[in-house]
Amino acid sequence: MRLDKMLSENTSYSRSEIKTLIKKGQAEINGVKVTRPETQVSFGEKIVFCGEEINTEEFIYIKMNKPKGVLTATRDNRQTVIDLLPKELNIKNLFPVGRLDKDTTGLLILTNDGELAHQLISPKNHAEKVYEVILDGNVPQSLIEEFKNGVTLHDGTKLKPARLEIVENNKCIVTLTEGKYHQIKRMFGVYDLGVNELKRLSFGGVLLEENLNEGQAKMLTNNELKLLKNSKK
Ligand code: URA
Repeated sequence: MRLDKMLSENTSYSRSEIKTLIKKGQAEINGVKVTRPETQVSFGEKIVFCGEEINTEEFIYIKMNKPKGVLTATRDNRQTVIDLLPKELNIKNLFPVGRLDKDTTGLLILTNDGELAHQLISPKNHAEKVYEVILDGNVPQSLIEEFKNGVTLHDGTKLKPARLEIVENNKCIVTLTEGKYHQIKRMFGVYDLGVNELKRLSFGGVLLEENLNEGQAKMLTNNELKLLKNSKK
């Protein structure tokens, strides 16, 4: 790939700014200064641009603590999760893996790895998604068994078995191995319970860490990426 293209995909500079800066001697490949924007580079090479090392990996994987009020989309005239990414992570045409509702908070994975994203959200994938749910009423004990047996939604859809743990009267943890539209809200809706707060705590073994504040994002560690890749069956 051309150096200026690699830099435009991995930095927030425009292609024309990049060309000018390369010509001014602001780019190094593997320690050697280059001044031609068309110089060929490969993924994984060490590139320093304007004094900063650039991430030249082909794919990147990010976890975000999604706040309320933000859309899980790439482009919209309302605020999206992509708009929240800091400049250094807003690279490589990232997109969210699956969706969280506008009013849902918690763990969201973003990547530019289309194949992995596709596998992770495929109906055949059984990766566990864990949610903390606060309801507008008490959780009946009987729901533990109902969820275990697979809830049938109002529209007749029979869901896979889910795990429900009651934390306190109106608070519980639900573990799903599928991800249908508004699934948690519709599951509780069957029992006339409304969801007041919904937060995703984990996805495919990747956990929402406590010190990742709402709106913040960071790269997955190699271990987390391994967990995520192993979670797809
Ligand atoms: N289930 C829902 O109802 N909403 C979400 O955002 C995620 C799961």
